[in-house]
Amino acid sequence: MTGSDAASVLSDRVRLIEPSGIRRMFELMASMQDPINLSIGQPHYEVPPLLAEAAQRAIRDGRNRYTVTQGLPELNALVLDACERSHGRRPETSLITAGVSGGLVLTFQSMLNPGDEILLPDPGFVMYRHLAAICGATIRYYNLYPDRRGERFRVDLDEVERLCSDRTKILFVNSPSNPTGGVLTRGEIEGLCGIANRRGTFVVSDEIYDSFVYDGDYASPVTFAERCIQLGGWSKTCAVPGWRVGWATGPAAVLDAMKTLQQFSFVCAPAPFQQALVEALPRLDLAPYRADYRRKRDLVTAELHAAYHLAAPEGSFYAFPSLPFGDGREVDSAAFLQAAVEHKLLVVLGKTFSARDTHFRLSFAAEDDELRRGIAVLNELATQLH
Ligand code: PMP
Repeated sequence: MTGSDAASVLSDRVRLIEPSGIRRMFELMASMQDPINLSIGQPHYEVPPLLAEAAQRAIRDGRNRYTVTQGLPELNALVLDACERSHGRRPETSLITAGVSGGLVLTFQSMLNPGDEILLPDPGFVMYRHLAAICGATIRYYNLYPDRRGERFRVDLDEVERLCSDRTKILFVNSPSNPTGGVLTRGEIEGLCGIANRRGTFVVSDEIYDSFVYDGDYASPVTFAERCIQLGGWSKTCAVPGWRVGWATGPAAVLDAMKTLQQFSFVCAPAPFQQALVEALPRLDLAPYRADYRRKRDLVTAELHAAYHLAAPEGSFYAFPSLPFGDGREVDSAAFLQAAVEHKLLVVLGKTFSARDTHFRLSFAAEDDELRRGIAVLNELATQLH
């Protein structure tokens, strides 16, 4: 079979997507010796020992067969209890998914017809637009960038209202955000949900970074939206992205369809890891991890050169600084990345997440020493390029 024969076999659907810029970073890193890697989207710490031991026990105890499609009832109960405790509302039902990625696939495939519209944040996590495109949905972006550099990432409710149409099926929210590190205020969340409620639109909320919030309370759309699919997971909080465990909550009308789709695709989330979470979650204390990341957040905010105009990220473990400006012009992002790579520093350009090419993503999920070395390189680049 020749290469062109093989390519002609591909569906139109799959031609709509392209490999992520972040994967290219992984490849670049593999070819470098001792890189300073601030490009990674996962915690730098190891799985909490309590959870690791519970997983080993689950495997030894024979928890290796399929679970029911919706996931272990005890784990679903923990998800719903936690949601009610944190957000004052108990969603009708829940489903254990193969990570939030699995939850996103099921949600979009269950809800979006060709021609339906979805409102996505700009900048936003790369997976959203590709999964929406596969469904044939039309994507409209609402802007999160501040009016002036150095201000917080925020949402403009008037703009969101203007972008809604009769075809809008999903208003998508991701707070805390990948890549900006922004956390929407209670007022912003309430405002977004108010727009969705007035129009009868669903809010789909990706809350994978919900436990990494550094200043004040975290507000979830679950509290305010009349129609809400909430997605979350343990990849980041428990440092187990390879386990592929997440959850979805929402009305049975949608969750039942997602469950049926899971039955014919993922089947179930990995059984021993579901069992391990059932055992360990009630005893896990994530506060020390959050405190450590808050300290790292403060370190980056305090130490990064003023040319990057960084407002303190309010959540997640990302900062999204501006590219350094010089003489009133913007630094060419390719030149910036090239200069960073020459200093063995890996970050992800903002254009990976956005139509704009004005920022870059730095992950502070790294050891202090690596983080400090990365900041030193960035500060040197700022004085050279500024
Ligand atoms: N949503 C966001 C915002 C993410 O950053 C990620 C992981 N990078 C995911 C979803 C997917 O996470 P999971 O490992 O649970 O599939």
